[in-house]
Amino acid sequence: MSGDRSLDGGSPYDAAADLVVVGAGVMGAWTALAAQRAGRRTILVDAYGVGHPRATSGDESRIMRAAHGADAFYTRWSRRARERWIAFGAEAGIPLFEQVGCLWLARRDDGFEAASEATLRAQGIPVERLGPREIESRWPQIDATGIVFAIYEPEAGLLRARRGVMAVVDAFREAGGRFELASVEPARPSGGRLTAVVAEDGRELLGEQFVFACGPWLPRLFRPVIGDLIRVTKQDVIFVGPPGGDDRFAAGRLPCFVDYDAAFYGIPAIDGRGVKVAPDRYGPVFDPSAGERIVDPDSAHLTRRNMAERFPALARVGLARVWFATMRKERIWTPPRRCGFRITVRRGGKERMSADGKYVLGLLDGAQPGEDEARFSLDRARPAQVGMRTGGDSIVTTWQGY
Ligand SMILES: Cc1cc2nc3c(=O)[nH]c(=O)nc-3n(C[C@H](O)[C@H](O)[C@H](O)COP(=O)(O)OP(=O)(O)OC[C@H]3O[C@@H](n4cnc5c(N)ncnc54)[C@H](O)[C@@H]3O)c2cc1C
Repeated sequence: MSGDRSLDGGSPYDAAADLVVVGAGVMGAWTALAAQRAGRRTILVDAYGVGHPRATSGDESRIMRAAHGADAFYTRWSRRARERWIAFGAEAGIPLFEQVGCLWLARRDDGFEAASEATLRAQGIPVERLGPREIESRWPQIDATGIVFAIYEPEAGLLRARRGVMAVVDAFREAGGRFELASVEPARPSGGRLTAVVAEDGRELLGEQFVFACGPWLPRLFRPVIGDLIRVTKQDVIFVGPPGGDDRFAAGRLPCFVDYDAAFYGIPAIDGRGVKVAPDRYGPVFDPSAGERIVDPDSAHLTRRNMAERFPALARVGLARVWFATMRKERIWTPPRRCGFRITVRRGGKERMSADGKYVLGLLDGAQPGEDEARFSLDRARPAQVGMRTGGDSIVTTWQGY
């Protein structure tokens, strides 16, 4: 089992590990697996275990889609991650990706959806354009009022998020990696080098290199460096239970859907857990460890309003369950301040793009990010994020030795 405190029986790391990865969310898990499989003796450490509900990577599902407006870079990375999740699921014997498609509902001709369609076609990724009548005849549970057209990505789908992270960590341990349950922080640097992280009980984990994949905990861990550049806010995600005996909202009957201009999206029900819907807006500033995970009444109201408009059959059903996610809101990014050792802060992108621990390993080895990837760098001024507000999680990589 992932997530317990055992050190997998005896420590193979009496000396320093080659790599210590802090944070076993999706970013840290893939990085640790790639490192361990590449022959680096790796420790993965998480304060709360693997797949825990406070983590951004928690919960049942995520949308895995390639459409990203005119941005071909996200489209390419997303496809690559999709392939890796499918291959990893086959290897693990767990269907982690379900190809249920994604329907993008356009309220105007020249918005995100039209730009996405052009990008997908240019990249050779299957996409269909549907009129409102066609939407309603294919999925009669949808009311397309107010929709000008839709694009449908048949090869998009949903990723089993928590289950996927747990499977990646299981594979990491099977490859000989060591998992530790501990809340750690960087130890005092020695000669400009970080040599250890230290747990609350004083235990030290020694390492040659470190990756901090701490999601919304990052600002607290690196306050002198990050300051208020990253703000953690709370976003409510709500599961809506369909009427009894109605399976029209389950995966296979309904695709993932995004009403981009209405800032509203959702994922069909899996495992009988209801349709997952989210008003795509920033909530209040939030402490991911101690914050009260109580749903904002406005989120419930917005969810009911949007569901009533788009899915009449779900207008009067109760909200089945809520899940809370933390996220970061970006402001203008500025170069990092110094903290006694060399540090690089990178935005990690979204979950669907995370299945690329090898990319982070390349950075540890001194590879220069490509021009396209400069967007992840902290030392690039960038405006507040536009578009869907569901990502922007960061990964901090520190390294030394060259
Ligand atoms: C509402 C919402 C919806 C989203 N929807 C999608 C979607 O549909 N598709 C998609 O691709 N992406 C989506 N994303 C984005 C995606 O979920 C995140 O990008 C991803 O989960 C971030 O993973 P992470 O590993 O960076 O962070 P996390 O999952 O938060 O992991 C960080 C880990 O670090 C650990 N940690 C922190 N500090 C310490 C410490 N000091 N010591 C030890 N451990 C520590 C924490 O316990 C935690 O487990 C969504 C995000 C949100 C918020």
